[in-house]
Amino acid sequence: MPAPVARTAVVLGRSGTGRKIIAVVLIISFILGGLLFAPAWIVPLAIAGSVAGPAAPGPVHGAVTSGNWGYPLEGEWTVGRGSGWQPVDGCAYCPSDHKGFDMTSVAMPCGAIIHAASAGHVINAGPTPGWGNTVRIDHGGGIVTLYGHMQWDSLLVAVGQDVDIGTPLGAEGSTGKSTGCHLHYEIQRDGVAIDPEPFMAALGLPLQ
Ligand SMILES: [Zn+2]
Repeated sequence: MPAPVARTAVVLGRSGTGRKIIAVVLIISFILGGLLFAPAWIVPLAIAGSVAGPAAPGPVHGAVTSGNWGYPLEGEWTVGRGSGWQPVDGCAYCPSDHKGFDMTSVAMPCGAIIHAASAGHVINAGPTPGWGNTVRIDHGGGIVTLYGHMQWDSLLVAVGQDVDIGTPLGAEGSTGKSTGCHLHYEIQRDGVAIDPEPFMAALGLPLQ
C-alpha cells in the first residue's frame, strides 16, 4: 500500500466508522477487480460452451468403421423406401426378389459419395442390368459387396483396381431399376446374395 493510503487506513482504523469505510472500500475494490478481469475467465468458458454444443438429433453413422469394415455411406442415412432383404408389401416398384439393403444419404440423397465397405479388388465397375451403374468388390473368402444405382459418369474406380476400406467408389444415384436416388448395397457369398443385415450386424455395423 502506498504510504498516504496506509496512513489514511491507520487513521480510519482507529474509529468504528472508519473500519466500516475500509471494509466497504475493500469490497468495492474486489467487485470492480472481478469485473475488470472478467473477460479473462469468461472467454474460456464461452469457448468450452461452443465446442461442446448441443448434440445433433438422429442417428449419425459418419465414417463409422468397425475393424476392417465400415458403412458405405458417410453421415446420417435412412433406410431406403421399404426395400430390405424381404419383399415389402405396398412397394409397387420393388422387385419381389429384392436381395440388398437400400439406404439413402440424408444430407445428399443424389450425389453422396459411396465408399468401399472393406478392402478388396474391384471386379465390376459400370452399367449392369437392373442395378444401373454398379461396382462389385471381391473381399476374398467368397465375400463380394455390390453398390448399385450410382450416377452415370460418377465411378471413381475401375475393374482390376485394389481398394481400401472407405475408398470412394462413385456417387449415389438412381440409375437402373430405381425411382429415386439411393444406394442398393448387396452382399454376396460364393456368388449368392445373402441378407446384409445380420452380416453387417455381426461386424458391429447394424443397418438401422
Ligand atoms: Zn435395392
